[in-house]
Amino acid sequence: MKVVLVSYTPDSELIIASSASASYDSKKNFTPEYVSSFLKNLAERGHLSPFEHASFTFDIQGISRACSHQLVRHRIGVAFTQQSQRYTKLTEPHFVTPSTIEQGWEERYADLSLACHRLYREMVEGGIPMEDARYVLPQSFETRIVMTMNARELINASELRLCQKAQWEIRELFENLRSEVKKVAPAIEQMLKPKCYRLGFCTESKSCGLFPTRNKVETKNGSN
Ligand SMILES: Cc1cc2nc3c(=O)[nH]c(=O)nc-3n(C[C@H](O)[C@H](O)[C@H](O)COP(=O)(O)OP(=O)(O)OC[C@H]3O[C@@H](n4cnc5c(N)ncnc54)[C@H](O)[C@@H]3O)c2cc1C
Repeated sequence: MKVVLVSYTPDSELIIASSASASYDSKKNFTPEYVSSFLKNLAERGHLSPFEHASFTFDIQGISRACSHQLVRHRIGVAFTQQSQRYTKLTEPHFVTPSTIEQGWEERYADLSLACHRLYREMVEGGIPMEDARYVLPQSFETRIVMTMNARELINASELRLCQKAQWEIRELFENLRSEVKKVAPAIEQMLKPKCYRLGFCTESKSCGLFPTRNKVETKNGSN
């Protein structure tokens, strides 16, 4: 996969800090250190609406349709434009192969993917509309999607998608998004973490080991 940050709100961290500060009518000296700790403080207090003032636009290429389907489930503070399979002919069979598909499965996986693509091409060449021929293509086939997401939604979506229990491809995608954000907004990047970091416990039934599960924390605190 290839992820490129193509556009973003300039001085995004300053915009967030100064707009949050405006709500208290206070005047501050916005040094980078102050902005960074102020943003952290806002996030910890759950004062997240100022984060909506900053947006990031990513060009995401080479993810599977299985991954993009998960991505577009995020509905708030986000815009998507995806490569059309109705108007774009998929001339080459580019598909994603998960690393678990090994030990003798790779060949059958690749054979079937290529066979699907051959049938797709034959149908298109035989006059079947691309919008119908595409029905034979598996979820593994690659797509391109341009996504604009505001910082608040980036924090929410990262809490879900950077979890070790999230599916590997969308987790990898969010790791790439985080790396891109780090180049231009390091204080925001610091907030792009699985939700256990904020909660102090794991909400899954079995923890990956980073934080104990909720039950264990409650038992320890004597609330069970
Ligand atoms: C590990 C994992 C497994 C998943 N498994 C499944 C699955 O098996 N099946 C499935 O269908 N989906 C599944 N999902 C998708 C999941 O249910 C969400 O649709 C997806 O993660 C988007 O999250 P969201 O609703 O927080 O995001 P957004 O849509 O971006 O919303 C952001 C926030 O806005 C608020 N919000 C948004 N819309 C509304 C609304 N209509 N009403 C009230 N508040 C709203 C909520 O607080 C929400 O958290 C899974 C997600 C994860 C991370």
